[in-house]
Amino acid sequence: MYGKRSAIIILSLALNIFCGCATTACRGDHKQTCFKTSPVDKKLTTEQGSKLKLTAINSASDMPSEYRNTPIEKLLQYHNLRKKLSPYKKPEILLGMCMDDRIQLSLPKNFAYVIRTGGGNLRYNEFQISYAISVGGVTSIALIGHDDCGMVNLAAKKEKFIHGLVDKAGWDKKAAEEHFTACSSMFEIDDAVGFTFLEAKRLKAKYPKITVVPMLYKVENDRLYLITD
Ligand SMILES: [Zn+2]
Repeated sequence: MYGKRSAIIILSLALNIFCGCATTACRGDHKQTCFKTSPVDKKLTTEQGSKLKLTAINSASDMPSEYRNTPIEKLLQYHNLRKKLSPYKKPEILLGMCMDDRIQLSLPKNFAYVIRTGGGNLRYNEFQISYAISVGGVTSIALIGHDDCGMVNLAAKKEKFIHGLVDKAGWDKKAAEEHFTACSSMFEIDDAVGFTFLEAKRLKAKYPKITVVPMLYKVENDRLYLITD
């Protein structure tokens, strides 16, 4: 007779099989791999990349007409144009942003759900996105990448990552190496502008009724720019 604990273990194994997660060294991130996505669109072709533009929003007249009276316009007004912050009764927008400490937005209370990840990569947060839309009622997503992002060229930080986990967190060196090897490719981005643009495109395809807008946060001046092709 199986006990409750055995049943839980069996259920976990079954979920592991059905979600397709084959990574063992990345066990700590196992749940993050449990969704359907494809790595094929992580990079732009050179031709696609050369077409991308950054549009500055420095005044009300810079606002593209398609965003007038939308949560996207409000976000840009609050942060870039320093509109007065008045609290909302319920959220209107979901923001996907990098966890980088330099990225700080000026926002009113209750205006936005915020998911912060390495590089603003939302591939491993789809349940939370679905929740913000279905239960939270947001109608727009702003995906915000930034320049000088730590998730670009992760390979160059491998030794620091491993030694840092050993020295600061008490990890075994072999486990730290395996952790980096198993997980870094999931989070590394090639270029913040291109990645954010493609990630927004992926989310648009997944949530067709939701407005999804890619933006870049410039660390040098703390302003948001629209990314367009
Ligand atoms: Zn970053």
